[in-house]
Amino acid sequence: MPVSRSQSSLRRGRASAVLSALDIPTTSAELDGVYDGAWKGSGDILESICPTTGEVLARVRSASPSELHAAIEKAREAYKDFRLLPAPRRGELVRQIREALAAKRDELGALVSLEMGKIRTEGVGEVQEFIDIADYAVGLSRMMNGRVVASERPGHSILEVPNPLGVIAVLSAFNFPVAVYGWNLCISMAAGNATIWKPSPSTPLCAIAVTKIVSGVLERNGISGAVAGLVTGGKDVGEAVVESADVDMVSFTGSEAVGRKVGKSVQSRFGKTLLELGGNNAAIIMPDADLSLAVPAVFFGSVGTAGQRCTSTRRLYLHKSIASEFLSRLQSLHASLKPGDPLEAGTLLGPMHNAQALSIYDAAIAQLKSSDAEVLTGGGRFTDAPYDKGYFVRPAIALPKTLDPRDEIWSQERFAPVLYTAVFDELEQAIEWNNAVPQGLSSSLWTRDLRNVGKWIGPAGSDAGIVNVNVGTSGAEIGAAFGGNKSTGWGRESGGDAWKQYVRWSACTINFSDEAPLAQGVSFVS
Ligand code: NAD
Repeated sequence: MPVSRSQSSLRRGRASAVLSALDIPTTSAELDGVYDGAWKGSGDILESICPTTGEVLARVRSASPSELHAAIEKAREAYKDFRLLPAPRRGELVRQIREALAAKRDELGALVSLEMGKIRTEGVGEVQEFIDIADYAVGLSRMMNGRVVASERPGHSILEVPNPLGVIAVLSAFNFPVAVYGWNLCISMAAGNATIWKPSPSTPLCAIAVTKIVSGVLERNGISGAVAGLVTGGKDVGEAVVESADVDMVSFTGSEAVGRKVGKSVQSRFGKTLLELGGNNAAIIMPDADLSLAVPAVFFGSVGTAGQRCTSTRRLYLHKSIASEFLSRLQSLHASLKPGDPLEAGTLLGPMHNAQALSIYDAAIAQLKSSDAEVLTGGGRFTDAPYDKGYFVRPAIALPKTLDPRDEIWSQERFAPVLYTAVFDELEQAIEWNNAVPQGLSSSLWTRDLRNVGKWIGPAGSDAGIVNVNVGTSGAEIGAAFGGNKSTGWGRESGGDAWKQYVRWSACTINFSDEAPLAQGVSFVS
């Protein structure tokens, strides 16, 4: 259906309000997508497309191969000075970045909604996550301690010393276009590294807006902007970053398929990786679960962000005694679900991110149909105006025919709002199903029985990196290290001890005696 002139200017008005609040030009001019202390960009053009309206928000000039190499070189140069800055002073820079982000939190959150498609409260929440990790990193900058180890030799001390690592490349996915970079940047900066960001090619505006805020702080403090560089681009730029011997660690967030290539490539040059890959997360509902809490949590987990969170609830295991009641309550919530502009207050269901995301949903629905699964609700696109221009779909709840957790219907991550459901008799069976898939990101048990909790979090319990009780699979706070096991990549970022990966560790034995004994009493005299 052709868009009328008034509709089209309405759309432009909606987008321009968000973009101009962040000083992003709203004219048809192309934007620079590379920052290494100066803005530039002469590579392929990336189009930022609004998932809600289908309009082109901006055209961005990505990094050409020579710009990419120059940016990495500049990052390396910047690191040489930055590593010498005392950690608490690096923390002070992070604190200023935190303040600058907080001043633009709502505006940046709206940009996340506009460009990625998640609803506004989730967009703002993502920026809040960046602010939270900045707070954490400021404290950390005074606490990145090594330790003193008792030496077996008299007059000797052994120190375990953390030092800055070098250049950290952050490759991020489309679904968290701000927070994932925030987790990495704040810890990496506090640790004394230069960071270079290769964001998803479909969310370049979020990356440009964040980089403008961060670089403003660095420049005001007389610090090289290359400490927090940006190289937008697609697969080719990603591959070149990953292959560069000048990148000491690649922190990669994305699919298992790409993560597998990235992991091998970095490993082949003995670089460091931090991999945050796909999830295939299960919620298990026991007979004694409080359904007034569990049903909304599964609803948010499977439908929130239109099913495009790495921690989205994809598998639902219901005890046979509550299965029918649970499903009827969940279906009622689905029935009340209406699509809408993610920027509007009250919208719970925004669009999927882009045509590729939509094709993943379509393939999942086609597979359900061809395998004779029972589709209880959902399973199609919204095709009426105004949703026909965006990527709106009906979230589905399905009961696959097979219960074999190794069947690909259960064992693959479908990055779409489809909830695969099965009914179990005993907790042990549900835990076995939970653990039988290749991925191991998030998991959630709903029960009031302490004995179930013990099983769930113990040695024979969930093998995921996130093991929740009466808390949904989706979303996490920054305080604990975040990440998943098995084919989710074993990475840990954000809080906890994650910072220890962003430094190089040395064991330093210092002899302050007048003799030089060898360890283990070895004698080497003729
Ligand atoms: P993706 O794997 O397609 O892309 C991720 C990034 O890799 C992008 O920046 C992309 O341009 C880049 N890339 C693509 N090919 C590359 C190559 N050959 N070499 C180097 N870089 C390359 O992922 P996506 O579709 O953007 O994101 C969705 C996926 O991310 C889902 O699987 C989701 O579960 C996962 N994810 C995981 C987490 C986590 O913390 N575990 C968080 C968010 C998203």
